[in-house]
Amino acid sequence: MKVENHSFSNYKEVAVTHLSLNLKADFDKKELQGTATLKIKNTAGAKQLILDHKTLKVDNVAVDNKDVQFEIGPLDSILGAALIIPITAETKEVSVAYHTLPESEALQWLSPEQTHDKKHPFLFSQSQAILARTWIPLQDCPAVRFIYDATIEVPPHLMAMMSAENPTAKRKDGKYTFKQTKPIPSYLMALAVGDVEFTSLGRNSGVYAEPGMLKKCVWELADMQGMIDSAEALYGPYVWGRYDVLVLPPSFPFGGMENPVLTFATPTIIAGDRSLVSLVAHELAHSWSGNLVTNETWSDFWLNEGFTVYFEQRIMEKIYGHDYAEMLAGIGRGELQHTLDDMMQEAPDDTKLFLNLDGRNPDDGVTDIAYEKGRFFLRRIEEVVGRSAWDAFLNDYFKTYTFKTMNTTKFVAYLNEKLLNKHPGKIDLDTWIYGTGLPKDAPVVNSKEWQRVKDAIALYTKSKNPTDIDTKGYTTHHWLFLLRGMPLLSVDEMAALDKTFSFTGIGNAEVACVWYTLSVKNGYDAAFPEMATFLKSVGRRKFLLPIYKNLVKTSKGKALAEQIFSEARKGYHAVAAGSIADIIREAQPK
Ligand SMILES: [Zn+2]
Repeated sequence: MKVENHSFSNYKEVAVTHLSLNLKADFDKKELQGTATLKIKNTAGAKQLILDHKTLKVDNVAVDNKDVQFEIGPLDSILGAALIIPITAETKEVSVAYHTLPESEALQWLSPEQTHDKKHPFLFSQSQAILARTWIPLQDCPAVRFIYDATIEVPPHLMAMMSAENPTAKRKDGKYTFKQTKPIPSYLMALAVGDVEFTSLGRNSGVYAEPGMLKKCVWELADMQGMIDSAEALYGPYVWGRYDVLVLPPSFPFGGMENPVLTFATPTIIAGDRSLVSLVAHELAHSWSGNLVTNETWSDFWLNEGFTVYFEQRIMEKIYGHDYAEMLAGIGRGELQHTLDDMMQEAPDDTKLFLNLDGRNPDDGVTDIAYEKGRFFLRRIEEVVGRSAWDAFLNDYFKTYTFKTMNTTKFVAYLNEKLLNKHPGKIDLDTWIYGTGLPKDAPVVNSKEWQRVKDAIALYTKSKNPTDIDTKGYTTHHWLFLLRGMPLLSVDEMAALDKTFSFTGIGNAEVACVWYTLSVKNGYDAAFPEMATFLKSVGRRKFLLPIYKNLVKTSKGKALAEQIFSEARKGYHAVAAGSIADIIREAQPK
């Protein structure tokens, strides 16, 4: 079978323009069951419509309301299989009756115990990168855009929500209808079903969460409307109507997912001090970079994420000021350095912005390179051309390519033509985009607060006295800086730090993750019981992977990792569980 852009589909011959979903959610069977009806444009007169599908069972296919024989291609462990449907040049509509299987990777069926309130089951989807095909048969590739409508039937005490205009109250009959009138790529198809309630936050924003969490979420996200207004002031109108956030139960494997109209967010941002809301700025920024102008292939993923991290910083700067935003950039720079230190040894080619992902899982491209190297590249361009020229360029860029896809070659041509030809020789695009590592002209982050923490680390490194660290006014980010910058420590030194600052058992997941990683690196066993509790209660991959990765470096640690994973796995999303299983399998402990 021909594979292009991680898809079997013949999307260059036949265009799917509209999807109509009619699905029923069965929590006992853990399946969605119903039909997907695709309107197509077959101007090339193709004889087949080839769709992607994986871990879903096709029951019947009808072409313009007449049942047809379909074929299924060979199974690929990453891509699934082709669903081959005979069509003619006149075909208008193809309807696939199907049901998902319990192991469908996009769908997380939570038992009541796995939710915050522990009363009702919960379902959420995660389609990015190529998992939409595990719950909808379609052309699952970011180069294809379509509009959709849906009818979703759920148990009567639950609410259904999608990446579309959403209800704000439950319906007694459990039947919900949706419309997304803007064309989106398949990876932005999203569905959540659960016992949630809604609270408005402003003109066009609001938050959905389980009733027991809603109040805290509303408080934490109080600045959201301001973020939307700031983003619009920077790069043009927000075109999606409402911007709401759904705060999910803990097993959500990501920080957030920029599903249009309704961002899905991890509950780990609800820290109680509004210190982690930059995640919302990030997902909101995707309403322009990614959702409006979309990476054409997963190799161009940096176009989605690099722009978004850059844009996120600009939103944070507008609301919280330059110093704070610069501190966040400093954290990003530190994380990028860690990633580069690892990857330049193991997989230097993956430190290029433009990635070769042929034959690989596109999830391999989800590293700090796309996000942080991408951001610093764009920041470098800003340094060269000046902020006002750069902002004018970005405004034009988003306007020109609204609802279109973008690839790296096309972007470079556009960038040169509109901007960089006026600044010849100032920036080496090839080195930045196609080279490994971080170019020498990478922008330097200047943060006073960062310097303050660095000084504290220097002082502590000499004295090893925790009370020498002046933590007055510390935010989550200061603590992260501090812990990440720590030298190798003895078990006694770890114990003294713990005694002074009570890290073990801390509720802030960002700080907990860094502390437990440090505990593993320094052999501080006293933190391990709380670390195990943390690993069993949090499902966000970003917090899980660093701890597991460091655990498996020793045979004792690997045994502990296996034991924790065997218990924690049922609470993890397939995406997170898969990454951890790989880490354990590939471990070579000393
Ligand atoms: Zn993102």
